[in-house]
Amino acid sequence: MNSDLIYDWNSCKGPEIPPGGPVMLNDETLRDGLQNPSVHDPSIEQKIEILHLMESLGIDTANIGLPGAGHRAYADTEALAREIVSARMKIRPNCAARTHKSDIKPIIEISERVGMPIAAATFIGSSPIRRLVEDWTVEHLLRTTEDAVRFAVDAGLPVMYVTEDTIRTDPSTVKALYSTAIRSGAREIVLCDTVGHATPRGAFNLVKFAIEEIVRPSGEKILVDWHGHNDRGLAVANSLSAVAAGADQIHAGNLAGRARREHADGVDAGEPAAFGLDRPRSFDPEEILGGSRGGHSHHHPAKLSGGGARRFPHRHGRACRGDCESL
Ligand SMILES: [Zn+2]
Repeated sequence: MNSDLIYDWNSCKGPEIPPGGPVMLNDETLRDGLQNPSVHDPSIEQKIEILHLMESLGIDTANIGLPGAGHRAYADTEALAREIVSARMKIRPNCAARTHKSDIKPIIEISERVGMPIAAATFIGSSPIRRLVEDWTVEHLLRTTEDAVRFAVDAGLPVMYVTEDTIRTDPSTVKALYSTAIRSGAREIVLCDTVGHATPRGAFNLVKFAIEEIVRPSGEKILVDWHGHNDRGLAVANSLSAVAAGADQIHAGNLAGRARREHADGVDAGEPAAFGLDRPRSFDPEEILGGSRGGHSHHHPAKLSGGGARRFPHRHGRACRGDCESL
């Protein structure tokens, strides 16, 4: 709005968030959010409490773990899946998996044991710098993608296909990988900034490219997700740009640096019509962990809103391969 007293550059033409269309939220607190050197893996009781709070907020989907990571990860993921079934929650679960059968099999097992579909979020490195360090060819990535996605789809799992560091991957490789995943049966694609590289313009351009060059030509109905880390404090701005470019779902909620859920909720409050969301409050998982992250559990319902003061650095050691992946 412009007047004699104020000139508002915000009112100039630019990427617009499409009105009316709901945007879904995928909560990564219980998976990506725990990939951090200073965050203890919460007890299963604390994880279940966080899951219920996600449900109470109306969060659409949640990543409930990477069950291929080991015995405890498997047990906790199964317990969370059982809780969703027994409490008749609406939230829809997904699990992370490398594009390996050994990571996908546990998701198939848990899905069958609890009697509920669980989407497999199969991820793979893709950027040129990662390919150089790992000595991977694009052909190898394509074969791995096809094998993994078909394996999960043949077992009846919905597949979200993810590439790490998509924001620094060349367009031809992005197109080849995601097109292969879609041909192999993936019906949701996740575009990532796993290193905090993206600017709002980059997020917009990548999502627009994926929709125009990959999704539309496929002729399939494909959900497009944006997963952006917050290393430079741009995760919320990047998520809004991704939505403006047509993303269906953004990833939020963390202990480590994805677009923080309370920020996303703040945006919702300002743009409820644009987001089609009505989330009256947020919660801070750090509060549920009692501030100690030592397994000590305090539950302060009165404190379960607003942002946490603490910020944690990303884990930049365990998964570093030429660059810093943390998905
Ligand atoms: Zn991530």
